[in-house]
Amino acid sequence: MNDKMTKKPSILLLYTGGTIGMIKDYKTNALRAFDFTQITKNIPELHQLNCKIDSVSFDEPIDSSNMNISSYQRIIDIIDLNYKNYDGFVILSGSDTMSYVSSAISFMLENLQKPVIFTGSQLPIGDLRTDAKENLITSIEIACARKNGKPVIAEVCLYFEYKLYRANRTTKINAEQFEAFISMNYPPLAESGVHLNFNDFYLHTPDFTKKLVVRKKLNNNIAILKLFPGITFKVVESVLNSEELQGVVLETYGAGNALDQKWFLKTLAQAIQRNIKIINVTQCIGGSVSQGHYETSVALKEIGVISGKDITTESAIAKLMYLLEENLNVKNFTHYFENPLRGELTP
Ligand code: ASP
Repeated sequence: MNDKMTKKPSILLLYTGGTIGMIKDYKTNALRAFDFTQITKNIPELHQLNCKIDSVSFDEPIDSSNMNISSYQRIIDIIDLNYKNYDGFVILSGSDTMSYVSSAISFMLENLQKPVIFTGSQLPIGDLRTDAKENLITSIEIACARKNGKPVIAEVCLYFEYKLYRANRTTKINAEQFEAFISMNYPPLAESGVHLNFNDFYLHTPDFTKKLVVRKKLNNNIAILKLFPGITFKVVESVLNSEELQGVVLETYGAGNALDQKWFLKTLAQAIQRNIKIINVTQCIGGSVSQGHYETSVALKEIGVISGKDITTESAIAKLMYLLEENLNVKNFTHYFENPLRGELTP
């Protein structure tokens, strides 16, 4: 056996904030941020894992509602700086925006060959009934998993309540139950029960000859426009005429259908002529946009609305942020959006 096969895997744990990192101060009864540099002291179970764990934390941990492009860049800088020295990364983050954040990180890491696992919890790690310990311990185990000297997982994932998902396929669907996430259009990559079972067929297989490319620039001159019966011209027009707007995720009905009234199509067509990219994403939690399937989506296709197929809104936002910085002409932009770059949609 060579050295790589026998050496303990090394994992870097990054705490960005969120409920998982809060513990109850028994004197004041208030929740406060936990010092993650002391993590192995506070969670002795981590010593039983067959790996070496180091941890870093945002200087000021944040509620994930405060995540923005510069927080994404801080996460990416930490991964980039430590990429060669660690076998895997576990990112602890608030669950509220975890699908948005982890989707963005997936686009920012091209040719990723190591596991990057996002996790968090609904209850703080110090709470008696916490879901944090299982989420954290299994995420580390997954990040350590190796087969024939190579990592089993080589993509950005989200682990929560016994399931590992491709991060850019997830949506947070529950603020109460421990099972907070769902991935409607792609099966879980692993399930944890008595054993940790990987669904090998659905895992991304990287090309180990390629080098990691880190994409640090993102563009947030974008918006989400969610349709509803009765939406007015004024609202649509004001969103599409926002200053500096470059891209819109248009949340449509069912298989990508929208009202086909003249004022609506004309406002969209004018925005597309101003080079604003409009992506059709369904409001349904599962299934796919299929422009042209119903009469109410034929015109969208004709005026140049891009199909998001079965992408989630969270992932479409991340992909827009990424592709808008890539200086692509309309044809290439449409091609790259409508085809998977990190397994985020089904072609
Ligand atoms: N509000 C918290 C956050 O997203 C909730 C959580 O940690 O799950 O940061």
